[in-house]
Order: sequence, then C-alpha cells, then structure tokens
Amino acid sequence: MAKKGVLIISVEPDSLAWEAGLRAGDTLLEINGEPVLDQLSYQFLISQRDETELHVRRPDQTEATVRVVNGGDGIGVDLAQDQVKICKQNCIFCFVLQMPKGFRKSLYLKDEDIRLSFLYGHFSTLSSSDDAELDRIVRERLSPIHVSVHATDPAVRVRVVGNPREGDILRKIDRLLEGGVDIHTQAVVVPGVNDGEVWARTVRELWARRAFQTEGPWAGKGGVLSLSCVPVGLTSHRAGLPEIPDVDPAFAAAWAKRWVPEVRRLAKENAGEPWLLLADEWFTRAGLDVPGRAFYSQSWAQLENGVGLVRKFLEHTRRFLRGPRVHGFRGRRILALTGSSFAPVLNRSLAQVNRVAGSELRAVAAANNAFGSSVTVAGLLCGRDLAYAAHADRQAHGGDPRWVDAVVVPSAALRVRTGPTDQYALDDGSEPTPANQFLDDMTLADLERELGVPVIPSGAHLGQMLDHLAHSERFHLQGMNLPQGAYNP
Ligand code: SF4
Repeated sequence: MAKKGVLIISVEPDSLAWEAGLRAGDTLLEINGEPVLDQLSYQFLISQRDETELHVRRPDQTEATVRVVNGGDGIGVDLAQDQVKICKQNCIFCFVLQMPKGFRKSLYLKDEDIRLSFLYGHFSTLSSSDDAELDRIVRERLSPIHVSVHATDPAVRVRVVGNPREGDILRKIDRLLEGGVDIHTQAVVVPGVNDGEVWARTVRELWARRAFQTEGPWAGKGGVLSLSCVPVGLTSHRAGLPEIPDVDPAFAAAWAKRWVPEVRRLAKENAGEPWLLLADEWFTRAGLDVPGRAFYSQSWAQLENGVGLVRKFLEHTRRFLRGPRVHGFRGRRILALTGSSFAPVLNRSLAQVNRVAGSELRAVAAANNAFGSSVTVAGLLCGRDLAYAAHADRQAHGGDPRWVDAVVVPSAALRVRTGPTDQYALDDGSEPTPANQFLDDMTLADLERELGVPVIPSGAHLGQMLDHLAHSERFHLQGMNLPQGAYNP
C-alpha cells in the first residue's frame, strides 16, 4: 500500500526546509525511517535528533530523501490540517444524537480522536484506537490522555457504548499504563445502568491502577490520575434512542451523600490529593452547595469536564470582594443570563457585590428552549434562548429599552476561539466556525443589535466580567460597532 504521509502546504523561504529543497506540494512520508502520520507525529519525530532525514514524495510522484540539521525554531514547514477521526460507538447518552435538527454541520460530528484527547483533554472511549494506535500513543509519549471508561464491567460497557467489540476497556488501559502513559478517566452515570455495584467495581479497578504507586504491580508504570463521574444529560430530542432515566434531584442527592465521603477517604490515601472527582452537576441538580476547595484537586483536574467550576468561581468571588476592583461595578445595572443550574450561585455572588459596590447586578436563568428544560447548564444555551430571556426581563421591568446598562451572556455558550474540532479538518470541507457565535449561529453582535444594549461575555469570574464591561464601554463611547472576536475570555 502506498505510504500516505502529510502534505506540505508551505515552506518558509530561506528556512532549513527550503535550503534542503522541500517545497509546498511535497508530501512528507517518513522522518528518520518512521512514518509521518499527522502533525503530532511530525512534531514528535522532528524533535528526536539533531540531524534529521526526511523522505518526501514530489508532486510528480518521484521520491527523494533530504537531510536537515534542526534549528531550535523548527525547520520551516507548514503541514496540511489533519482530518478528525470519527467515533465508532453508539453511546446510549450520546449528545450528538440528541441534538435538535438545523444546527451547523460541525455540531453533528461524532469526533473521537486520541490526538484531541492528548492536545485538548477531550475524552475518548478508545474505540477508534487499535493496537497500532495504542503503541503509537506509547511511542510518542502522548501522555496524559483522557479516557471515557463508563464501566469496567465488560457487559455493562458494551451496553453503554453500544459497541459489542468495546467491552474490555481495561485491556486497552493496561496496555497504555504498561507503556508509561498516564490517564485521566471519566464515567457518565446512568441510573440503573452503570451505578450501584457496577460503579463501585469501576472505582475499585481504576483505583488499583492509580498513578504514583511505589509498590505493587503498577509501581513505576503509567497510572490513572483521576476518575470523575458526571450525571447523564438528556435533551428532549431522543426519538428513536434507547429509553434511559435522567438523574433527578433525589438521585443526585443520594449520589452525593454516598460518594462525597468516599472522595475524602480516597484523597487521604492519596497523600491528600483528591483522585475520585464528582462533577458540579451532582450538587447543582440536588440543590446542594458545592464542597470546599479541598474537595477538588490542587491542579483543578477535569475542570473542563465540569468538576470544580462553581468552587473556582466562588474562590475568585471571595478574593474579588476583598479587593478594590469590586468598586468598578459601582452604580452599574447589569442583567446576567445563565443556565438554571448556576443562576442561584451567581445571584448570591452578585448580591454580595451589590452590597459592597452599590450596584444592581442580577442573574436570571434562561430556559433552554432548543434542547429542552432538562438541560440546565449555561454552555448549551443558544442565542435565541438568551434573546428570549432578555426580552422577557425587559418586559417585566416596564419595557424600557435601556432597562439595564449591559446584558451578560455565558462565555461557555460562545465559540470564542477556534475549537479543537475546527483545527482538524472535517472531510465535508465545511468552513471553521467563526468566533463569538452561539450554537444556533447567532453571534454576540446579532444579539447586541437585537437588544439595543451592550452584550458582553461573562468570562470565568467577576474580574473578567468587569474587564469585558470596560472594554465594551470603550467601544460604545467611541460609537464603534462591537468587533467580532473582541472578547476572548
Ligand atoms: S463516544 Fe462520544 S461521540 Fe461517540 S457515541 Fe459515544 S458519546 Fe457519542
């Protein structure tokens, strides 16, 4: 079979690659005899030796080998984007399958790519990783990676991921650990499916493989760095999908009661560092306060997976209230829109700011009309949902067009930078999504035009919200339109 290689799309003039005779249109096949699979493998291979042998195929299909002595800043080639790998599973809770119709194409992409797991912390079920790819992870030291385990019981895992060949996740995990790769793991918990004894077994078997053991079979090898559990999220678009129960407040409360002490017990055995992690949603769904700082890992492991976001926000708020910047909100009237799970927390924090700064900041929960009322997280609110909530709030306040000085929308609901799946090409050739766009393609600027008041992204904490407010006011004072990409919280 012809070697595939990676296309060189540009070569910097006078660079090492240029001097060695490489040009745009050449395909890089091998480096030092090793196949170049993608950009990640290029970066790994090019950094291995000072003198590098590159084997390329020219546009006329002839092949050539050139040598470069590497410079510290690379050799001066740009490679074509990699194509994202598509998932081979059929998880009973797959969010992509529960999406309403009519959104942009890239949102229906079931990506499952170990490179995204390494680079951006995306969780992978390892379904598209055969033994050759597992060996590649080890060889190129793609560590740590993030793996969706869901259940170590093979029969239950098959049921959860909907793929009869992917029951034995421990075999793949063990192959990676043996090779020195560390792994963050997670499980999406579905009541009656992978809870109870199935979950207890998952915890036990992954805990036995935890990282940094000094004795026993896993000492000196890779290890499981953390295990998080996240409650299943169901939308109202499940026609034709398996019927599964949602996590209701009673289930969430019982889960927290059972597993919070276990988090603390295991942390004690792990030199104080929490290893088992509970997502914030267990607490917000149960109507409970999130635990204190010590409940979360020192490095905020799995923050992107919704573990510790609320606690981190509250920690920032505590410091913010003690500092001088809080007075920046003095006299401001702001409506902050968010998901119903975070609204009570945000409202309490804003009330504290109001007491100190004499401001009128309010949080209002926006209903998720696009995905359904069971979806309560801020990150899945669409532009239309936010517009609807803002209009309703204005009506409730007498219909005054300047009823607030600014509307704050959740940063998590906005595409504020090029996302991982946009950095990998889709094979349908669709364009990457522009910045500052909501899931339903409405942009921040669209929403601002519709509401007639400044609309700013929340940022991750109140200090960032204040920065965005100041930024927005500068533009509005100058009579300028809000530029696309103005805010990058
Ligand atoms: S692995 Fe992810 S993308 Fe694939 S079916 Fe499961 S939830 Fe969906």
